[in-house]
Amino acid sequence: MSGLASRRIQQLSQVLWPVYRFFSDSSYARHQGQPGLYDFAIGNPHELALPQFVGALQRQLEPRHNHWYAYPDSLPEARAAAAQALSQRRGAAFAPEDILLTNGAFAALAVALTAVTDPGDEVIFISPPWFFYEALIVAAGCVPVRVKVTPGTFDLDLEAIAAAISPRTSAILVNSPNNPTGLIYPPETLAGLGQVLAQAGARNGRPITLLSDEAYSRIIYDGRPYHSPTAYYANSLLLYTYGKTLLTPGQRLGYIALPPDLPDRAALRDALFLAQLINGYAFPNALLQHALPELESVSIDIVHLQHKRDWMVAALRQMGYELHSPQGTFYLLPRSPQADDWAFSERLAAKNIYVLPGTVVELPGYFRISLTANDEMIEQALPGFAAALAEAG
Ligand code: PMP
Repeated sequence: MSGLASRRIQQLSQVLWPVYRFFSDSSYARHQGQPGLYDFAIGNPHELALPQFVGALQRQLEPRHNHWYAYPDSLPEARAAAAQALSQRRGAAFAPEDILLTNGAFAALAVALTAVTDPGDEVIFISPPWFFYEALIVAAGCVPVRVKVTPGTFDLDLEAIAAAISPRTSAILVNSPNNPTGLIYPPETLAGLGQVLAQAGARNGRPITLLSDEAYSRIIYDGRPYHSPTAYYANSLLLYTYGKTLLTPGQRLGYIALPPDLPDRAALRDALFLAQLINGYAFPNALLQHALPELESVSIDIVHLQHKRDWMVAALRQMGYELHSPQGTFYLLPRSPQADDWAFSERLAAKNIYVLPGTVVELPGYFRISLTANDEMIEQALPGFAAALAEAG
């Protein structure tokens, strides 16, 4: 690391070490992007973007007035479209001014952490996590406090969360449907979580903010209902990205929504706006905002994604892999047939199959498969999955 790098960046490079290793020093790092890979490593697209997506951008490209490409904060038409759609899906009245548009959920997380925490505060995150949570907490100057899920069910461990809260706790990150476990937290768990947070906040004389990462809330299978953690606790912020629903993570679009029950909304809106400015102008680019009203109703084919889930789960189980069927998200989470999931991932890579080792998501002994791989990749990779299992056996 450069001598110019700050101590914070040095700490971040340690926190991100497993992620960094995977993206810089693995077979995936060496082969990523080459043609002919069976790429199940991360939630990237392996088909052309939806024509509705491309069409929406094309229709907004030509400027309609002099300010078309001026600095945008959250543009009114985009806020209104997002608020209306969210209200309809959730049966709660989200106001347009309570939608703050961000560069995806990544920025929404950074902005929300800046707005509701002070340096030195503790922020709870759930393990296994999305692999950037801990780093984002450190980057906000806070102390990450890891709480593991209940083994076996992957559900939130409410007792462990209650025990992890201290007077310095200012926020908790919750992600449902969960990356990597695919679980939608059930209403009973969320009601319990709401109680734990409310009681601890009252006891400590300081409310805890629930940051609800709902990146995959529209990637749900079997017609299941979605239960937003924000519906069970008033001090909640809802974070969303269109990057999953549209499968265009390279076009950064998302938002922070302040739910209608959130107290003191005007002051928090201001705090978030300020946090957006100082986080490097964390607003989506003008073109994406102009296109948002059209993009809001567009989605990748969830039925097809579910078909890929069912196909791969059945095929892998038949080979002898142990895995559950996720309720939502892009991800399958088989047990690694070798205790060393990194070594098993490299064994698959030798067959041109790329997956994410479980250690990268704090889940040693597993590996993660992204269902964004296309049908051809799945079909051609299945014999390789079987052969790797046999070799490891
Ligand atoms: N949260 C979770 C749980 C994710 O899986 C991701 C992306 N992998 C993000 C946030 C960030 O989403 P985006 O890159 O669209 O901002």
